[in-house]
Amino acid sequence: MQVLKFGGTSVGSTQAIEQVCSIIASYKRKGRMAVVVSAMSGVTDKLIAAGQQAGQGQEQYRTILQEIENRHLEAIRGLFPITVQSSLLSQVKKQLNQLESLCDGIFQVGELSRRSLDKLMSFGELLSSWIVAEKLKQMGLPAGWKDSRELISTDAQFGHALVDFEVTDHQVTSFFQHQPSEYVILPGFIASGPDKETTTLGRGGSDYTAAIVAAAMDASVLEIWTDVSGMMTADPRLVPQAIAIPRISYEEAMELSHFGAKVIYPPTIQPVMNRRIPIWIKNTFAPDDYGTLIQDNGEKPFPVTGISGIQKIALLTLEGSGMVGIPGFSKRLFDALLREKVNVILITQSSSEHSITTGVHESDMLKAKAAIDSEFAQEIHDKRIEPLLVERDLAIVAVVGDNMKNYHGLSGKLFGALGRNAINVRAIAQGSTEKNISAVINKADVKKALNVIHEVFFESETRQVNVFVAGTGNVGGKLLEQLQSQQSYLLQELGLQVRIMGIANSRKMRFSETGIHLDNWKADLEAGHEMDLTQFAQRVRDMNLRNSVFVDNTASDEVAGLYSTFLQHGISVVTCNKIACSSEYANYKKLKDLARKFNASFLFETNVGAGLPVINTLNDLVRSGDKVNTIEAVLSGSLNFVFNNFVNGANFRKVVKAAQDEGYTEPDPRIDLSGKDVMRKILILARESGAVLEMKDIVNHSFLPDEALHAKDVNAFYEQLDVHAAHFQQLLQNASDKGERLKFVARYHNGEASVGLQSVGREHPFYQLEGKDNIVLFTTSRYAEQPLIVKGAGAGADVTASGIFADIIRTVR
Ligand code: ADP
Ligand code: ASP
Ligand code: MG
Repeated sequence: MQVLKFGGTSVGSTQAIEQVCSIIASYKRKGRMAVVVSAMSGVTDKLIAAGQQAGQGQEQYRTILQEIENRHLEAIRGLFPITVQSSLLSQVKKQLNQLESLCDGIFQVGELSRRSLDKLMSFGELLSSWIVAEKLKQMGLPAGWKDSRELISTDAQFGHALVDFEVTDHQVTSFFQHQPSEYVILPGFIASGPDKETTTLGRGGSDYTAAIVAAAMDASVLEIWTDVSGMMTADPRLVPQAIAIPRISYEEAMELSHFGAKVIYPPTIQPVMNRRIPIWIKNTFAPDDYGTLIQDNGEKPFPVTGISGIQKIALLTLEGSGMVGIPGFSKRLFDALLREKVNVILITQSSSEHSITTGVHESDMLKAKAAIDSEFAQEIHDKRIEPLLVERDLAIVAVVGDNMKNYHGLSGKLFGALGRNAINVRAIAQGSTEKNISAVINKADVKKALNVIHEVFFESETRQVNVFVAGTGNVGGKLLEQLQSQQSYLLQELGLQVRIMGIANSRKMRFSETGIHLDNWKADLEAGHEMDLTQFAQRVRDMNLRNSVFVDNTASDEVAGLYSTFLQHGISVVTCNKIACSSEYANYKKLKDLARKFNASFLFETNVGAGLPVINTLNDLVRSGDKVNTIEAVLSGSLNFVFNNFVNGANFRKVVKAAQDEGYTEPDPRIDLSGKDVMRKILILARESGAVLEMKDIVNHSFLPDEALHAKDVNAFYEQLDVHAAHFQQLLQNASDKGERLKFVARYHNGEASVGLQSVGREHPFYQLEGKDNIVLFTTSRYAEQPLIVKGAGAGADVTASGIFADIIRTVR
């Protein structure tokens, strides 16, 4: 005999039921077939809702019943020819009337007992299975319907009744002995208790019904037909990259379902496993897909078979010195939980025996607390142990695989991945059989955690990077352009899937759950919401995506003010905005520390020398133990442009104006000419070399006369440049008299820093510096004789964007 079970979605509509019946009809049947059917999808929830409304005296239950009625009547109308419809409709109506009377009764009494709830829920499966049976008969198949309540006997634990296998097995076998139909259709989920009252087997229990029948009949196979193509490496609703697992052992399937893989109801596996009956999970809507075959151990390609998660978990911790070395504490704890029928999902005990922690469903939390506190009332009173500590809003994620014991470092990989994504682990449990490692985390992190774990165990070739971009001006615009043109290269060559999840400028912001298409980002952004920085930051955090990177292409101090919260949420920060790193030392230090603590990257290569590898070179030197003694640098592309063009015969004001017009200076050129921008850069280099310096510690030998520096606006500033034309000419003359050139140089030496105009001779490396190039000389303990030189284009949107791009990639590599 074969047993097939069809789930709620599989019978959720006319088309679905037709599909189910055609699968049954075309099945290469060997002998008889039992078909177990769930309620139409959503109907059990609706029945419960109706019962609850009625129990609370709310008339709305009638509306819900009407919806349930419509679903079933529609199915009849869609499935059967008009000629037979009226008789079928009247039979269904009869059932629905009973359902209505039951609800009316509950409404009158004003209470929904667990017993009535089971009776109420049974209508879902009774109706759906009856409809399927009628359809099969109408198609000409020798089919019959049987009420499972006459086959499956349980105790009286409504909602979660325990099966009496001895009685049940006997009833099932003797029924089939005397049953002529070749196809027997059975409602899942429902059974009967000691007084023949209706009971149910727990939510999702139709799978279990099918397993009970399969085991009793020693079926050749149990097929679970559902709406996904098998048991998958993770819940596909949470992890879109999940893939179906072709083969899996009973034990692994049990672990995965116990830890939340809803595709199969956990108790289902035991009865069929005892008889070594294979379970085959198949997709009703893609019957040609292989699905998942659950049977005895087979070859395994991966160390981990699957991952799953359970939401709404509470941790209960019993703690106290009175527990140490005294036997029997855990027994009393678990006995107390057992008496209250609390299902313990996870246990960990500290090796000092000073505490025991158990994970339970949040719905069991209060009764568990009461039971344990009363069990240990005396010890708590004597202060030998603490009252039970309860923490809620947690979840469990579990990694499952028979093969895990044969590999080293899996937990390191698991917790490393969680740590890198700032997912805090509250408790850990590893089964002694090493088939499972589970971690308790905050419930808000479940989706992210499952994706992170899935990525490290199943998608070793690809990693996803989720980028949020603030600022779409010159640099931001170029960055998006470069990302767009490189996206497929990154995926193919580096295995990086770079997705732009949010874009904002000063006016608008736009988010996408699946990534913004970069060929159309401008229009998309325009159609977005009005920019609000607080909301923007909140949304980035709420999306809570793995490998998140926030990119700041602005010059805004408000945007720079967001870094600390991002870093604290494990979101990396990549920025060309110099404000944060050149603010007070304490703030710079705090950001670096947060990045370390929360395993996020804080990268700002483009703060100095745009795309040139200045900071990275410096970091490599320092990290490898070198000591930086001196840094000499020309760090301002703007000033370099100005002094390269300020040659004999030129007018200083005109040169500055030309630099501004060509976009080489800030809108207010004084930010460049005053040396302030260069001060920030040398400050950052000094700090990265290990010096504790503030902006005010940097000596600025300004070449600008005070009147120009403090002019009331940009125009007045330019006037002052004319007023002081002779001063500038003199500077130039002094240099050219010696055959030297003017350069604006930043210098750091043994803890002290300065900036200022300097004239350099032909032999100096700065002499030949062209255009907007930058140059940095590092003199270190290792590079003592000849400095290490980094030189190249140090300004411009293109090179800055590529520096940011490189930093983004660096956050995940
Ligand atoms: P049915 O009504 O057929 O019994 P269920 O809704 O009970 O179906 O179970 C199937 C659902 O289980 C899938 O749609 C999927 O969203 C969910 N699910 C959770 N974890 C997994 C997993 N690891 N593999 C497959 N499906 C899973
Ligand atoms: N209809 C029941 C439920 O929704 C049983 C099942 O579908 O397996 O829980
Ligand atoms: Mg199910």
